[in-house]
Amino acid sequence: MKTPTTPEGWAIRLSKLIKAFHDIHGLDRFPIDVSQVAGEFSRQVFPDAPITMINGGKFSKKFDGGKFSKKFEGMLMPCPKGTGEWGIIYNDSITSPGRINFTLSHELGHYLMHRHLHAEGIQCSRRDMLRWNSEYGKMEAEANTFASFLLMPLDDFREQISGEKISVDLVRHLADRYQVSLTATILKWLSITDERAMIVVGRDGFIDWAWSSKALIKSGIFYRAKQVVTPLPEQSLAAARNPLVDNEAGKLHPAGIWVGNEEVHEMTILAKDGRSISMLLYLSTPSVTASMKNTTNLRTEYV
Ligand SMILES: [Zn+2]
Repeated sequence: MKTPTTPEGWAIRLSKLIKAFHDIHGLDRFPIDVSQVAGEFSRQVFPDAPITMINGGKFSKKFDGGKFSKKFEGMLMPCPKGTGEWGIIYNDSITSPGRINFTLSHELGHYLMHRHLHAEGIQCSRRDMLRWNSEYGKMEAEANTFASFLLMPLDDFREQISGEKISVDLVRHLADRYQVSLTATILKWLSITDERAMIVVGRDGFIDWAWSSKALIKSGIFYRAKQVVTPLPEQSLAAARNPLVDNEAGKLHPAGIWVGNEEVHEMTILAKDGRSISMLLYLSTPSVTASMKNTTNLRTEYV
């Protein structure tokens, strides 16, 4: 059998095996047990380089560009004894099962696609797990694409959202089904939807990062990579953090509140630690002229 050459190809190969196994044994297909898949698949397909250890570990900082600056989320490492075996370690200070699952899957992606290029192993930060654009680093984007397709196969994801309006309830249902974080679920939806939509993650009143669907980028509405600190819009649900409002059902804002100078439906999940996850839906269908005009206003540098 030919070796896949893309992250999607690898994920589809594994998904088929997992589905066949579960069908035969009458088991639920989801959530996918990445530890089990990684061990069994690597042993069968790469008997000289199996993954023999998956563990939580303690590490606080990632060595990055000459200084320790970022927290580790996970790493892929060769056995120090030179046996050819590989291990995956995730940061055991992470308590969210969804984040752990995504991290394991991301590292399995590195194992399948990148271990030959990095015989010394690969260390990944939280930020690396959120890098979905090739401009941020091809390898991290590939590992994330693999993880997303492995944990949330397109056939099932499409079936789940078919005929449904995107909502926080639907996102929670999907995150539960696949045991991934709300953020990973929203990114998955954004990567396949035809709708004009964006995720904005806020922290302590500022925009931490944001990501737009393809259709929204086409109309010139997006936030750029972090250069300048940008506050959350004052009138947004994410900034107001009003406990008396149904933030998750959301609010239709008039043009001028969020980037893009259009009406925006904002649905926001507030976390206790000062973070927020907002889904922004741009509901109008702008003319080409309007989108061109928007482009000039929206090159806000940040995230
Ligand atoms: Zn990585």
